[in-house]
Amino acid sequence: MASFSSIQPAAAQAPSSTARSSILIPHHQYHSDQFSLSSSPSPPQLPPSGRRRRRLHCVRAIDAAQPYDYEAYLFNRFSQSSKLKIAVVGFGNFGQFLAKAFIRQGHTVFAHSRSNYHAVAESIGAAFFTDPHDLCEQHPDVILICTSVISTESVLRSLPLQRLRRNTLFVDVLSVKEFPKNIFLQVLPHHFDILCTHPMFGPESGKVTWQNLPFVFDKVRIGNEDSRINRAETFLDIFKKEGCTMVEMSCAEHDKYAAGSQFITHTMGRILEKLQLDSTPINTKGYETLLNLVENTASDSFDLYYGLFMYNKNAMEQLERLDLAFEALKKELFGHLHEALRKQLFGKSEEGGHRRPMLAKLPKNGTPLLPPQSEAVANKNN
Ligand code: NAP
Repeated sequence: MASFSSIQPAAAQAPSSTARSSILIPHHQYHSDQFSLSSSPSPPQLPPSGRRRRRLHCVRAIDAAQPYDYEAYLFNRFSQSSKLKIAVVGFGNFGQFLAKAFIRQGHTVFAHSRSNYHAVAESIGAAFFTDPHDLCEQHPDVILICTSVISTESVLRSLPLQRLRRNTLFVDVLSVKEFPKNIFLQVLPHHFDILCTHPMFGPESGKVTWQNLPFVFDKVRIGNEDSRINRAETFLDIFKKEGCTMVEMSCAEHDKYAAGSQFITHTMGRILEKLQLDSTPINTKGYETLLNLVENTASDSFDLYYGLFMYNKNAMEQLERLDLAFEALKKELFGHLHEALRKQLFGKSEEGGHRRPMLAKLPKNGTPLLPPQSEAVANKNN
């Protein structure tokens, strides 16, 4: 909390004798003074000292605006204290998208990227720094890592951390979470705070509104001081204010869920993109959903998709499940076809004979695809 002397307006910080007297006079008394003077039909002849009092009154009248100014001043001070200086590192598609929201909410945005985005930054009200040293010398409250997953480590290691304030908050928005968490813990000195986040939407899906869209976060390391706790909360508030559904969960949990949902979604979107689907005059609702899926996923960079696969240890299993599921579905279809053909060929002579067994469904998500080795050996021996 700022001390009283540090939050007074300039006039009150160095009070003149008249200003001091006006501060001491209660508000209601000031108004009754004013009333009695102005409503008096024939003001008595004032002695010289009385004239002095009148002059004093004039000064108080100017001071009368002070409580209002002071409130405005305090309000400004308060709103300033709830504003952050955010350095967006990686000012590509997603970095720019987030920066616009930060600026809309009154935060100051600095940007830095491999490519030169001076003009784009200027057009949205951010300041662009080509040199990371210049960026860090602005002493941002938050460094927001918004680079591709695969370039994150090299970008982080290229930042001159010694130029930052000692307890700067590092946040990432990568679509995988255990990887940046581990890199942050390895690279950042212990006095920096760490908040790992994943907005579960992008420039396409969050184009119109962020209302009810999930925002995942894990407070990996936030110092005990009020100012550090408040800073992290102020950052999270940006997304709360936009209406996001805030979901606090560990990075490990996130990656498990995301492999089974986001990675599968992006994979299906990319497979469908390869089919080059076109809109038709008779689109069903389902087909429209597929076309939207392609639009929402294929516009992301391939780096992003590759990051979802390579940097989430659960992604490989999901890809194998997808493969198995497709094979199982084909077998089921061809099995039915095979049966129909045999019926045609052999007619009643095969009735009651061998029936093709229904193909087993895949084990539920989360259960290993292959039985543990010891079990497999035991089964073989039986
Ligand atoms: P991206 O392709 O994942 O990342 C592009 C950003 O990475 C650009 O700022 C680019 O810088 C930077 N970059 C790429 N290679 C680099 C290298 N070798 N060295 C330095 N910088 C490099 O696309 P994105 O959509 O902007 O995503 C950014 C991050 O946000 C990713 O980690 C992604 O997982 C996450 N995210 C994205 C979405 C989304 O919907 N797009 C949603 C949630 C989270 P330059 O532009 O300067 O080349």
